[in-house]
Amino acid sequence: MSDSISIHWFRQDLRLADNPALTAAADSDQVLPVYILDDQHSGEFAPGEASQWWLHHSLASLNQSLNAKLNLYKGDPLTILIELCCRLNVTKVFWNRCYEPWQMSRDIQIKQLLNGAGIHAQSFNASLLSEPWTVLKNDNTPYKVFTPYYQRAYATAQPDSVALPAPASLNCLHDDRQSLPLDDLQLQPNVCWYGGLEKSWCPGEQGAQTALHGFLEHGLAHYKEGRDFPAQDNVSRLSPHLHFGEISPQQVWRHADKTVDGNNIEHFKRELMWREFSYYLLYHWPKLPRENLKSAFDHFPWQDNPAWLSLWQQGLTGYPLVDAGMRELWQTGFMHNRVRMVTASFLVKNLLIHWRHGAAWFWDCLVDADLASNSASWQWVAGCGTDASPYFRIFNPVTQGEKFDPDGAYTRRFVPELQHLPDKYLFKPWEAPAEVLENARVTLGEDYPMPVVDIKTSRQTALDALQASKDFQ
Ligand code: FAD
Repeated sequence: MSDSISIHWFRQDLRLADNPALTAAADSDQVLPVYILDDQHSGEFAPGEASQWWLHHSLASLNQSLNAKLNLYKGDPLTILIELCCRLNVTKVFWNRCYEPWQMSRDIQIKQLLNGAGIHAQSFNASLLSEPWTVLKNDNTPYKVFTPYYQRAYATAQPDSVALPAPASLNCLHDDRQSLPLDDLQLQPNVCWYGGLEKSWCPGEQGAQTALHGFLEHGLAHYKEGRDFPAQDNVSRLSPHLHFGEISPQQVWRHADKTVDGNNIEHFKRELMWREFSYYLLYHWPKLPRENLKSAFDHFPWQDNPAWLSLWQQGLTGYPLVDAGMRELWQTGFMHNRVRMVTASFLVKNLLIHWRHGAAWFWDCLVDADLASNSASWQWVAGCGTDASPYFRIFNPVTQGEKFDPDGAYTRRFVPELQHLPDKYLFKPWEAPAEVLENARVTLGEDYPMPVVDIKTSRQTALDALQASKDFQ
């Protein structure tokens, strides 16, 4: 009897440990590990440039862990999988589930067609603590608000106490005939703008483990208070690793549970549950990335102002905390959560620019760009999500800076032209007396911009616009 061959189709599970589909595939005599860059179905949600950079390095790392046996393809997954099954006599195909609407409809079709062709196709959960359809209200409808969702989901979220190890023996096949070299996927940008990303990140399963253990040792103990201060090292920076599945939320949860500080752990686990809730919203409201979940916002008078959008993107708004965040994003592919909220609020509420423009820029620049978390968070900040920050809660970039970056370490790092400005004026340089500006060697309008809008007037304009859009209904 000939050897049995299975495919493990890697997608957003770029790891060997705690990988149920890979473990199932490993039962066969031989495994063909496959990654397919699907350039057919993702449409406007194809990975942005920063995500592509990450993916390139994550695949390189995975290939190394598989002793150079990872097979790479580009094109339509169904066509490629069928061709591989026929040519190599593959009888089983395994994968872990993804939850973006275009992925779900594609995968349902692939499973049906493979099963119809007599090939066993099976999928697993490897990236969520609880899948979206398993957490419902008593009347079987989905939750719209985080807290009751969290209370219900927390109980089912507890992972098994024992993690799945990486398969002990994996007899991998390499498809010498069709597998592409990694460079042929063309994930590395043509223009080398990613030096800052290389300095900031280590993509791959090993990098994820290092980030987790570094956080557990040095960050978690002060997570609850420290997570709001962008200059402090109290957050995990695990989001890109989680997005690409280099680590599972179960692994993170289990390790956090083994540490001793209950209060900080519970707070950290609550943030992991926000990730779950974002996936939940995307599953139950697939229009989340495109449409306001609150229809009142369909009448909102957004401004079409490409010049202001460009100043925001470049970190040249004249509001130092906003500019620091936007430059952190550009330079490192990341932005601290507190500053994401401030920069996003500034775009939608002070500049009145549609949240989708902001989400698109984040999508292109973030190494952790994630359709669920990005869309849900932008709708939350804009006030148009199911469970959103109230519209009148408009983050003030001056007071936010004074409160969460009190000694200006974060802001001065990314806006170095203001480094000699005293703390008192750092977040409102336009109020500094001429002598103070001169001593700090800052000429407003030359070294650093004047504010693009007045914070009080623009806030009032936003509140009036909301009232007017409600009147339209
Ligand atoms: P930690 O504080 O260490 O939290 C641990 C994990 O919990 C994170 O890695 C992340 O997976 C999850 N998490 C934490 N906060 C949130 C949150 N508010 N919503 C959802 N999950 C959360 N997160 C993304 O992963 N991808 C995105 O594209 C994304 N876009 C965002 C856009 C805006 C406008 C805002 C306000 C937030 C966005 N977030 C996004 C959520 C959050 O900012 C990041 O998850 C967090 O900053 C990642 O840093 P960390 O890993 O150090 O988080």
